Amino acid sequence: MASVRGALGVLGAAGGRALAALIDLVLPRECAGCDAAGGLAICDGCARALAGPPAATRPTPAPEGLPPCFSAGGYEGALRALILAYKERGRRGLAAPLGDALAGVVAAGATGRAASHPLVLLPVPATAAAVRARQGDHMLCLADRACRRLRRAGWPTVVAAPLCALPRADSVQMNRRARGLAAQAAFAVRPGRLRKVLAAAEVGATFVVVDDVVTTGSTLAAVATRLAANGIQVSFAATLAATRLRSPPAEVAVRQQNQRQTDDMPSIAQIFSGRS
Ligand SMILES: [Zn+2]
Repeated sequence: MASVRGALGVLGAAGGRALAALIDLVLPRECAGCDAAGGLAICDGCARALAGPPAATRPTPAPEGLPPCFSAGGYEGALRALILAYKERGRRGLAAPLGDALAGVVAAGATGRAASHPLVLLPVPATAAAVRARQGDHMLCLADRACRRLRRAGWPTVVAAPLCALPRADSVQMNRRARGLAAQAAFAVRPGRLRKVLAAAEVGATFVVVDDVVTTGSTLAAVATRLAANGIQVSFAATLAATRLRSPPAEVAVRQQNQRQTDDMPSIAQIFSGRS
């Protein structure tokens, strides 16, 4: 099986993902979280990584406009592997367990709210390029699954998509501030769909932005800010996982602070390379 999956590389990324998704449906496979054999898409141990319990999480520093956030766990280990397998390697069968886990996170965030008021799930929109590359909108699929799960549990729930994602630059190399600015410019309103969402607001709906992973929070903050500017107040965000951001060691932080005070001083790289 591993050699078959490895051979998919010759098809190119999109073709490989399409075939991987097909193989995922028709052949026995290993666990997507830990590669354990046994013919299960997800083994019992990795399923426990999805079981939570969900908890409140918040990046530090949190960007302006970021709503309260809840996640099933840290973006690491089995949870990270499962998200990547679903999102990047065409393991479509994981939409069910991941969507159910997302429903659990939404339910945790909505605890204490009147169950008679509708929940509106707002998946972070994917760019057209991402939808093409992944053969579909992976967050919309997860939101649909979570919606069905919440309905079965008695929550009146719908999925809405009042925003669309505009093409944007790759943010991997951007610093935190640049990411925030790029995120602010990344979403546009779809007027027809926004009207329906505003109607839900009039009957007291709870609005929940859902995404796979929260890292700096800039995307969630940008979505919530864009919605707020159009009359939709997001109550909270629910994600499958949260990246645990690591602060630099105290000594490095002090040196970075000194570096900002004068350009004449040697750079951090020069200090560590002994050229100062
Ligand atoms: Zn496993």
